[in-house]
Parts: sequence; structure tokens; C-alpha cells
Amino acid sequence: MLSARRLARHPWVCSAAALVLVLAVLRPVPLTRIMTGWPPPGWAFALCDVGQGDAMVLAAGEGTGVVVDTGPDPRPVDRCLRDLGITRVPLLLLTHYHADHVRGLPGVLRGREVGAVQTTALQEPAEQAAFVRRTAAAAHVPVVPAVPGERRRFGPLDWQVLWPAAPVPGAAPYSPTEPNDASLTLFARSGALTLLLLGDLEPPAQQGVIRTYPALPRVDVLKVAHHGSAYQDAALLRSARPRLALISCGTGNPYGHPAVRTVEALRAGGAKVMRTDTDGAIAVSGAGAGLRAAGRS
Ligand SMILES: [Zn+2]
Repeated sequence: MLSARRLARHPWVCSAAALVLVLAVLRPVPLTRIMTGWPPPGWAFALCDVGQGDAMVLAAGEGTGVVVDTGPDPRPVDRCLRDLGITRVPLLLLTHYHADHVRGLPGVLRGREVGAVQTTALQEPAEQAAFVRRTAAAAHVPVVPAVPGERRRFGPLDWQVLWPAAPVPGAAPYSPTEPNDASLTLFARSGALTLLLLGDLEPPAQQGVIRTYPALPRVDVLKVAHHGSAYQDAALLRSARPRLALISCGTGNPYGHPAVRTVEALRAGGAKVMRTDTDGAIAVSGAGAGLRAAGRS
């Protein structure tokens, strides 16, 4: 297991190799989008456009991707994975059981080899948890709980489950009672690219992450918590200091996502902000100063 200190000591390598381009993250002007095909060559991470919900993919080799969440509907995530050429999913992580993260499950399973579904411990809302168990069982895909702090590798990827946290000796165990705060939170690497994926964590759990990992390093990509809602912990954003902040939300959603103040706070911290409601699906390649992101819209 990676300790918080060891995470901080990781040598973040800045890749100078510019992959085919589209939008230089650190050079937002001009915003010329030269799209010659999708996905852009060398993509390592993609945020699907699934409307109001989350679904994302970490590229794990030819036709293979680790998928995180499924969005609210099978069709958009199926289309996104098909467009990315994903036919094998060694692991599908469901951050929590809200419908906008799990109801697209049949779309991920459709015509693909899925090794296992991994979930958070809190089985709430119970109706959606039952839907996941039933749907996965029908496809003969095992559902396994994530172990706090566990670290996994697959192909070019490695990641650690930062949250929910392992119990701290001598402290009262923290058990989230609200689905958003039970979101599996991942620190992931693909080569030199670093990502922090926050699910729908609310501030109490965001503060729990930063308490558990006070030396959380700067990341290239932040999947902003809870569709860019107004409720973001400033200390976590300061610590992560993302180069690129990605928000998944639906056009004209009734929740006002993303909040203006969240977008402004991310920009003030130096991040380029992209969002699926205006940029469409978003693909990321490179790392560090060579980070590139392309929107499909
Ligand atoms: Zn959500």
C-alpha cells in the first residue's frame, strides 16, 4: 500500500513528447481544435459524455480499458466505449450507487468482456445496489468490494483507492452514511500522467481524504467532485492543484452544475477547466508540461 509520504515522493516526470495535438492545456489561446478523428492517438484517459452523470475510461492497452462509473443510461456509455474501441474491461469500478453512476451498467456489459465490478461498501440506495448485483449476476460478472487503501496495477496503469479510508488505529472508524461520501476515490497513474478521481464526494469526505493523505501531490487531471457542484474543499483543491480540471455534467441540468464559483476557483488555482456539457467527450494524453486534452464537440 502506498503511504501518503510515498505518494509525495513519487518522481513526477514531465514528458516533453507532444502527442498529436489538439488543445494545449497550458496554452488556452488559440483554442483551435484540429480534430482529425476520434479518439486522438495516444489517449490515456477519457471522460465520456453521458449527460448528467459520470463515466470514464483509463486506457489499458489495445481495446482494453479500466472503466469508472457508467453514467445514468446504457446507450451513451456504450457508444462512448465503442467509439474508443474498448472491447475488454478488466475492471469496472462503481464509485457509489446513485443512478447517475450505475444505471448505464448494461451499456458497459453489452458485447464486452468485463472481468469484475468493484464497488464501495455502502449499499445505498438499496434499490440501485440491487440493480447492480442483479445485472452483473445475469452477465456472470462478479461484484467485489474495494478494500480501503488497496493498490492495483493493470498494463500501463496503477491506482490506489484513497477513500473510503482504512480505519486509523485509536480513532473512531469512519463509515460514510451518505452515498456521495462513500464514493470510491482513486489516485491513478498511466505512465507519467497522474489523475485524481473524486466521484461525488462532499466536503466532509473531501476533508477526510486530505486528512488521510496530507501530502497528496499535484495532479495533471482532476475529475472534479460531484459534477462541479458548489461544495468543494479548498484545501483539497489547493493540494491537488490540477493542470486540467474535468467536469462531467448534463446540458441545462436542473442542479446548476457546474457552479460558477467552483469553475472560478479551479481557474484561479491555475487549472484549465473542461466540461462535457460544452466540450463533449474529453480525451487526455501526455503528462505534465506535455499534457494535452481534446474535446469531441
Ligand atoms: Zn453523480
